Amino acid sequence: MDQQPKEKVPYSLNSKKVADATRMWLQKRGVKMEEIAELVMLLQKKYYPELTMEECIHNVEQVLSKREVQNAVLTGIQLDILAEQGLLIPELQDMISHDEGLYGVDEILAFSIVNVYGSIGFTNYGYVDKLKPGVLERLNDKSLGPCNTFLDDIVGAVAASASSRIAHRKQTDREQERGEDTLGPDIVR
Ligand code: MG
Repeated sequence: MDQQPKEKVPYSLNSKKVADATRMWLQKRGVKMEEIAELVMLLQKKYYPELTMEECIHNVEQVLSKREVQNAVLTGIQLDILAEQGLLIPELQDMISHDEGLYGVDEILAFSIVNVYGSIGFTNYGYVDKLKPGVLERLNDKSLGPCNTFLDDIVGAVAASASSRIAHRKQTDREQERGEDTLGPDIVR
């Protein structure tokens, strides 16, 4: 039988689809925006006692609107799912499904999120990674079933990045309150 050459479908990426998939998969993996925002509140309330949950949620959403962040979220979740399905190369399968201590690619992937937001994101990520407060404790609980080897680091990194975003924007707020010339909030990513 003659094989007809397949017609090539031109590659076209739709940014909204990537953004929507990011939100959908976080939700499917049981992570709520409010839970990430609670981590942000924990990290920042000491510096900004007037900080509200609405501000925290808004900043989490802004972090999640960045393509670099969406790429990392989707990649990490995909690897967790493949590990649950037992579809990885055997050695990698073993390491990811057991959250092997010497396997640090989950943390490295999380760096691609915090790197967008500079040193405050980086230090805050290290802090929650050690402490594992709130939602991170649940995501780390191996007795609950799902593989969250990548997801816990992703969630910590998104919260740390939102904290950095708040810190930078609050500086602009303070300058504006003092009636000074400012570069405006748009310089903050
Ligand atoms: Mg991990």
